[in-house]
Amino acid sequence: MTGDMDARAFREHGRAVIDRIADYLADPEAVSVLPALRPGAVRDALPPEAPASPEPFERILRDFDRLIVPNTTHWNHPGFFAYFATTGSAPGILAEALIAALNVNAMLWRTGPAQTELEEVTLGWLRAMIGLPASFHGVINDTASSSTLYALAAAREAADPEIRGRGMTDRDLPHFRVYCSEEAHSSVDKAVITLGIGSDNVVHLPTDDDFRIVPEVLRRAVRQDRARGFRPLAVVATVGTTGVTAIDPVPAIAEICRDEGLWLHVDASYGGSAAIVPELRHVLDGCDRADSLVVNPHKWLFVPIDCSAAYTRHPEIMRRAFSLTPEYLTTSAPDVTNLMDYGVSLGRRFRALKLWFVLRYFGRDGIVEALREHCRLAALFAGWVDDAPDFQRLAPVPFSVVAFRYAPPGEMNGERLDALNRAILERVNAAGDVFLSHTSVRGRYAIRLAIGNLRTREAHVGRAWDLLRSAAEAATAGA
Ligand code: PLP
Repeated sequence: MTGDMDARAFREHGRAVIDRIADYLADPEAVSVLPALRPGAVRDALPPEAPASPEPFERILRDFDRLIVPNTTHWNHPGFFAYFATTGSAPGILAEALIAALNVNAMLWRTGPAQTELEEVTLGWLRAMIGLPASFHGVINDTASSSTLYALAAAREAADPEIRGRGMTDRDLPHFRVYCSEEAHSSVDKAVITLGIGSDNVVHLPTDDDFRIVPEVLRRAVRQDRARGFRPLAVVATVGTTGVTAIDPVPAIAEICRDEGLWLHVDASYGGSAAIVPELRHVLDGCDRADSLVVNPHKWLFVPIDCSAAYTRHPEIMRRAFSLTPEYLTTSAPDVTNLMDYGVSLGRRFRALKLWFVLRYFGRDGIVEALREHCRLAALFAGWVDDAPDFQRLAPVPFSVVAFRYAPPGEMNGERLDALNRAILERVNAAGDVFLSHTSVRGRYAIRLAIGNLRTREAHVGRAWDLLRSAAEAATAGA
């Protein structure tokens, strides 16, 4: 065997793969959303070494059916309500196959001309759909964590042009400070750690009753830090926090950033997509004044993981932070974008293709309809929680996530209530047809129901509610 699979075999196996995907998407509930599995079970079922001789493709597929599918947590299941629920939609899945077939590495324009230009065009479309001005330049990264890391690297570059050459140690440089809310995602802390700023220099601001940054608290913290000899660098505001999907007051924060000379990065990785819906456009109010913003089409825009859109009004600073061209990567093409200049990775997958397929296949109207439906289902569920005397909603529901807990009237103390809710969640998830996750709301254990799958219907949300109520009854009886 000295070559790849021939075309005849490819067609035959390709049909088998497409049939599997079609069956999977047509009946996603044929599998449990969460596998009942002990750690190490899959590893133990696999041979310790790669095969020495070729194996028939049918056998490989059989093992995929036997070992992988039943032992997978099914993010594409309509009963997946954990973390941020997502959809790897059919047009996105088909695009992934074509991406793999072309196997382009768009590090330079020359190594991926259509890929580089399609990325620019699709990010321009998305930018207009979410209402950002054309002054924002976008590239696609793997994840929001990378996008936020690069944004803060650009902020650091803007603050100290010598950072690239001289680094941060053994020089007269005050500690940088980065501000975000106590509800911000841990990717902010990770970025700060990676950039050598130090996690002690992330200031997690307390939030108001709706879990949002309080502008005056931010302003005071910045000024106090400056007076103490720190160097305030950047603010990360969040549109759709991980726990309860709070929306920080970006217009007021932008004002402070302007007054204090700070970089404003907006983490709209979940909530940003909602701005496509006309009546939710306001969630990105003030973001036109951000220095950078991330929105993840792989979170709530039906693009299979991974696809994170990173926008900035300062692409030249991003290039200053990251551009480095060894001789073997120089080209003579003038005035072209070389995507390798916008981050750490040299190699770039052709992620724009799946975004292009998804945006075209559903169209703006189809996307609006789907996002509205998710918000409707979340509001419906929130109403059930509100109407139940023994359940308590723990936060507003601006998008499609509900944070709540079982809290029967009576004496129960905080820790017992936390344990009870933990037990309820375990019992609900053990049933195998829904998967919910938890968070902490003001230090209390909270259950979260997140809606984001295109195949989720009212019946699935109803099933989650039924399971929660009967698990609450059972757990209380056993408590
Ligand atoms: N920001 C927020 C608000 C998130 O909720 C998450 C993950 O859920 C992230 C960033 C990190 O996303 P990614 O997995 O794309 O790095």
